[in-house]
Amino acid sequence: PFVLGIESSCDESAVAIVAADGTILAQAIASQDEAHRPYGGVVPEIAARAHVEVLAPMIDRVLNDAGMGLGDLDAVAATAGPGLIGGVMVGLVTAKALAMAEGLPLIAINHLEGHALSPRLADRGLTFPYLLLLASGGHCQILEVRGVGNYRRIATTIDDALGEAFDKTAKILGLGYPGGPAVERLAREGDAKAVPLPRPLKGAKEPYFSFAGLKSAVLRAKESGDYNDADIAASFQQAALDCVLDRTRRALGEAGDVGALVVAGGVAANAPLRMALEHFAREHDLRFVAPPLKLCTDNAAMIAWAGQERLAAGLVAPEGDPLDFVARPRWPLDPDAEPARGAGV
Ligand code: ATP
Ligand code: MG
Ligand code: FE
Repeated sequence: PFVLGIESSCDESAVAIVAADGTILAQAIASQDEAHRPYGGVVPEIAARAHVEVLAPMIDRVLNDAGMGLGDLDAVAATAGPGLIGGVMVGLVTAKALAMAEGLPLIAINHLEGHALSPRLADRGLTFPYLLLLASGGHCQILEVRGVGNYRRIATTIDDALGEAFDKTAKILGLGYPGGPAVERLAREGDAKAVPLPRPLKGAKEPYFSFAGLKSAVLRAKESGDYNDADIAASFQQAALDCVLDRTRRALGEAGDVGALVVAGGVAANAPLRMALEHFAREHDLRFVAPPLKLCTDNAAMIAWAGQERLAAGLVAPEGDPLDFVARPRWPLDPDAEPARGAGV
């Protein structure tokens, strides 16, 4: 079967068609970085309007690139949450309209499930269960991925997500938005030991991340005038990586018998982070899987693929998900997980 996927939960509008064997027949992605740059972060209202403008023509283009018509599709999958609700609604309503007009089953996808399963799209040999670090601008979690639709959340953040910490550090250093790549670049020229910064929750028994204190310390370091920006960037990145490794070590101790460590989400683009996690995996006899960047950041291939996984696992009714499926601003992957103090989905 062929599944069309639609993603619109944040600041990427994306459409893709993926076959049951994981072949990506066509995909398109429109990033809104330019539109949000003046504000230093994603503005929900601007995001929703941009999705409205681009999604329909993108669907046309992707069908064209794949040499297919709507009649060749077997299902339409769309992100139904969690995310910025205006954008989620645009993508979900678009999918519902296609499903209704073509008599296709709708598959409502949890965006986090898209990230959680994308490594299997990149590496078809990756089997359950695996430990997943999901780190993006909006999420910072460690999950035990036991199977399709079977996720146990081991860790989450009590304040900022890791990508958010990179973005805020970039803002403090005047590097613009999105900040992750800029901080990584500047960090290469700096000394990671130059600025003493905290490692929040390092060694803590509680299964949480925390980056707000680190960000405040970065702000104080900058305002002190005692350090150059490259040293601050390098020291921040090192502190963040130390926290991630410590939290991953703790989560591994709590996970079942996982065979692989997997990283997904936009922060997986960070080369020092990938290297540190790869080293950690080798030490612990785990396979290490990091999908190509295109599949790490928000994209629609992962949404279409999650649809394929759900179909193959028998989790989709023949008529699909109900057409009155409501978009969800919050939608935890693990319904049993305790909500974190503070923020976090
Ligand atoms: P969501 O949280 O809903 O998945 P998002 O748009 O924030 O949405 P992504 O597109 O997956 O998530 O990732 C973007 C985030 O990744 C930003 O916070 C960005 O700064 C961060 N990021 C991207 N590249 C790097 C990098 N090289 N180093 C560190 N962080 C990075
Ligand atoms: Mg994004
Ligand atoms: Fe995402």
